[in-house]
Amino acid sequence: MSELVIKGLTATVAGNDILRGVDLTIGSGEVHAVMGPNGAGKSTLSHVLLGKPGYEVTGGSVTLDGKDVLALPTWERAQAGLFLAMQYPTEVPGVSLFDVMEASFDASERSSSQLQELLESEAKRIGFDEKFLLRPLNVDLSGGEKKRNETLQLGVLAPKIAVLDELDSGLDVDALRDVSRRVEALTEDTNLGVLVITHYTRLLAELRPDYVHVLAQGRIVETGGPELANQLEDTGYAEYAEEVVTTSATPFASGIDPADPFADPLA
Ligand code: ADP
Ligand code: MG
Repeated sequence: MSELVIKGLTATVAGNDILRGVDLTIGSGEVHAVMGPNGAGKSTLSHVLLGKPGYEVTGGSVTLDGKDVLALPTWERAQAGLFLAMQYPTEVPGVSLFDVMEASFDASERSSSQLQELLESEAKRIGFDEKFLLRPLNVDLSGGEKKRNETLQLGVLAPKIAVLDELDSGLDVDALRDVSRRVEALTEDTNLGVLVITHYTRLLAELRPDYVHVLAQGRIVETGGPELANQLEDTGYAEYAEEVVTTSATPFASGIDPADPFADPLA
């Protein structure tokens, strides 16, 4: 059994306080959905958990099975068992998916002799065309193909805890079902713990959440069961609206740092 424990986590981005005290505990086999308005800090939380440069932790703690995650470089966080499916997966020209997975296996002293077969069977499971296995990582993939590519890596790496940032965006109905089923199966077969960031309950139809949290103004402001997701889909985040205005403060009029290649264009 593994446990990711986030306590009083505060973080700044570009000088703005974005996370203002996040408390969240994710155990093996559990699915926690985090929902919330645009700009609330959901992707920031995912970046902070994996240690993306530019996201400065100013307080609080994150531990995985008691180990101080925040003290580790990103690759060691991954080795400790954390995985992030990015909202906007990065294209890496010249590096194939196989190369990346092989390097991951080597780093954790896992034999890669069956890797090709594993990639093929994972691809089949989520309806991901095998031709993409040969492409440079994410290069010239559609939004939905990139999300399937992230899911494929998740299935192959089998981490302890996965953070899935809008894994559903860009997926058509069939792909969404395949992907959410695959993740749900991992929670049962490998006891994967999941923190899934989403705006839509359709992802949660197959990947059934044990808890639904609302992140607004950089904090978890409400926690409930699956019914909370349905309720939010009806009512939106109007209830939290006033709080949202303060969090969207940013030095850039568009809300996007033009110098940041990772900035979320839809945030
Ligand atoms: P969400 O994923 O909940 O929509 P984000 O975590 O992406 O929100 O963003 C939270 C706030 O932080 C937004 O106001 C966004 O503009 C700002 N922000 C996020 N990343 C950066 C960055 N790299 N540079 C400047 N501002 C950022
Ligand atoms: Mg986001």
